[in-house]
Amino acid sequence: MLTQGPRGTKDILPGEVDAWLYVEKKIRELCERFGFQEIRTPIFEHTELFQRGIGDTTDVVEKEMYTFTDRGDRSITLRPENTAAAVRSYLQNKLYADNSLTKLFYIGSMFRYDRPQKGRYREFHQFGVEALGEQSPAVDAEIIILAVRFLQSLGLKDLELSINSVGDPKCRPVYREKLQEFFKDKLDGLCDVCRSRYDRNPMRILDCKSGECQRLSVGAPEITDCLCDECNEHFEKVKEYLTAAGISFTCDPRLVRGLDYYTKTAFEIKYSPLGAQSAVAGGGRYDGLIEEIGGNPTPAVGFAVGLERVMLALEQQKLFNAEPHKADAFIVALGEKAQSVGFKLLVELRDAGLKAAMDYAGRSMKAQMKQANKAMAHYAVILGDDEIAKNVAVLRDMESSAQTEVPMEEIIKKLTDEVKG
Ligand SMILES: [Zn+2]
Ligand SMILES: [Zn+2]
Repeated sequence: MLTQGPRGTKDILPGEVDAWLYVEKKIRELCERFGFQEIRTPIFEHTELFQRGIGDTTDVVEKEMYTFTDRGDRSITLRPENTAAAVRSYLQNKLYADNSLTKLFYIGSMFRYDRPQKGRYREFHQFGVEALGEQSPAVDAEIIILAVRFLQSLGLKDLELSINSVGDPKCRPVYREKLQEFFKDKLDGLCDVCRSRYDRNPMRILDCKSGECQRLSVGAPEITDCLCDECNEHFEKVKEYLTAAGISFTCDPRLVRGLDYYTKTAFEIKYSPLGAQSAVAGGGRYDGLIEEIGGNPTPAVGFAVGLERVMLALEQQKLFNAEPHKADAFIVALGEKAQSVGFKLLVELRDAGLKAAMDYAGRSMKAQMKQANKAMAHYAVILGDDEIAKNVAVLRDMESSAQTEVPMEEIIKKLTDEVKG
């Protein structure tokens, strides 16, 4: 028990961290280029924020939240997503004050009590952006392009971008009624979940994975036929901007987002080699959320990317190659005297900006060379009694096995030149 992490958690081990750092670096570079600034909100928030911000009737809030009462008798929840928290921070810190458009991004852990499976954990990581304060379809297009460029920058090809408009409080009720009308005499055939969705959220029926529900929803009315002029125009503009940017997409009228505060644009990016876990990014406009949380009505649009799935794709496609050398130099010291000369050199090499390592256990030459290999060192710096007597060290290129004798005082410069090229 003590040596097993909780179900659904995963350690990111030293050998895996490099790939995460690589991805995070790409995110930061790209977000900076697009003018998004990083925000870091707490891991936990008041439970009510998520109840209001995600919706009481969603699976996330009903079944998947990590909620507990703290010692002050407050109900606290580990964030299951970050949009509500970003909006909370935006309002609390008045980030809207000096700008009509606030562009934020985040990277971090989210928590959902979900059935763990490949690429899905109870603690998982998301990269997301939120653009708050602007209703222009250009912003919708901008964040979609950012999501696409991010995945492309990692080398993921053949991404499938689907977009839709889910309307707004003006036109969606009309669609809702049409849908209920359509499903009215099919209710008995729907799964239990969808039967309960019929009243509160019939759009989600279109989203159901059950084969029977999918069969019954063939021929269902499409939201795009019910959009009001404003929503329609907005959707056309988003498509126009994407086309102008050379981004290919398909329109999927079944791409719905269940919550009332979602408006207009919805999108999803799939990477099909991932199979069942192919949805890597999803997002859209949520013009109703900020008011829901207690702010003034404010248009907003955002997305989130599941980083575990991105990492899975990188691994599957072998798109990330770790640096070949973890250490620039590994000091192989033989004998007590060499140990202390070697230790001094170790410190000097590090001070000079080189990645240096050394064995402290006084092992044999063979064992230390093995360690140098394990440390993925570029060079071994070999010091024995003979070398100490001559005030030199033997520099061995671990790849080519070429060896040269170098005077002690030239070692740092020589290694620096070789390594930094
Ligand atoms: Zn169903
Ligand atoms: Zn509308």
